[in-house]
Amino acid sequence: MPEQTFSDPSTPRDGTLPNIRELNRQQISGVMTSLGQQAYRARQLHQWLYSHQARSFDEMSSFSKRLRQQLADAWAIRPAELDTVETEPARRSMPGHIPTSKFLLRMDDGELIESVLIPSEERMTACLSSQAGCALRCTFCATGQMGFRRDLTASEITDQAFLLDREAWRLYGRGITNIVFMGMGEPLLNLDNLFEAIATLTEKEYNFNISERKITISTVGLVPEIGRIARSGLRSKLAISLHSASQTIRERMMPVAADYPLDALSTAISAYNGETGQPVTLVWMLLEGINDTPEEARKLTRFAKRGLCKINLIDYNAIVNLKFRPGYSDTKTMFIQRLLEAGLLVTVRKSQGATINAACGQLATRSGNDD
Ligand code: SF4
Repeated sequence: MPEQTFSDPSTPRDGTLPNIRELNRQQISGVMTSLGQQAYRARQLHQWLYSHQARSFDEMSSFSKRLRQQLADAWAIRPAELDTVETEPARRSMPGHIPTSKFLLRMDDGELIESVLIPSEERMTACLSSQAGCALRCTFCATGQMGFRRDLTASEITDQAFLLDREAWRLYGRGITNIVFMGMGEPLLNLDNLFEAIATLTEKEYNFNISERKITISTVGLVPEIGRIARSGLRSKLAISLHSASQTIRERMMPVAADYPLDALSTAISAYNGETGQPVTLVWMLLEGINDTPEEARKLTRFAKRGLCKINLIDYNAIVNLKFRPGYSDTKTMFIQRLLEAGLLVTVRKSQGATINAACGQLATRSGNDD
């Protein structure tokens, strides 16, 4: 399988000055105020860093030479860097199939995280991470097996989008059209940084400038944070990994579900529907003998109809050494049929990237980031 490595992990990065990209907008304002600058200069600095992707203060031509020097004396600019790219081999047996690419990115402190480009005829979707590792330990997930390492900063979240957009142009000749936060980590456990990253990525005057509606936030179903998103005014889409409408099965797959019973989750979904006027997507990964039964289809139907919900069935990318296996396709057909007959809106996402370990956490795990 084609793999390209871009950076040498044994080469230390210049760490003598603090990295200005670790600062959020408020902290950037604080820096500029401390230098006696007016508020609009802080906005300009943010724009240089995140719209123009400046790699040095010398590039910031709207600043005086003195200000550029003051900044360069105190700060360095060290964005995330591309470490490794793996592109799935083309599948001749699948006409129209466009290979998925997976990226390992190196953060300033050496932490490795992963992001995925999922191309289709109409879209170029970037699947981004929100945390390095994850504390929630879902039993089907490679990232969950790594444990939690740390939250990503807003800058590290946006850097994934910038780097993947550049790579999308290089590999596929077109840029990112959609973003999903379904990579490493639970985005709702890093909500402040996620909000700030989305604000930067959707900033109208900036070069990247994607619409909030083209961004999907995916969660295992953290009830208080779903309420926070609903009240935030954010117009991005919300996807909830349901995977089972039986409390005991859900808890077995996602231990954190014990804190948020299905009734509480359903109430949160209805409140979200009411506040935003938008549906929620219930993500369901069919697992043989676990959640592909007629009883589960019936329970899912009942749960989905309590709110405004769509169903997204996904293939499971089999993870080595884990006990689950993807649902069989005849079982899947029966399952889909039952949902459709019940009047639910169902989409089916075929497995992409299984041959490049594209289930979240698998590339980072293999690269030894789980020490
Ligand atoms: S599925 Fe998501 S929330 Fe669960 S362990 Fe993996 S990264 Fe964390």
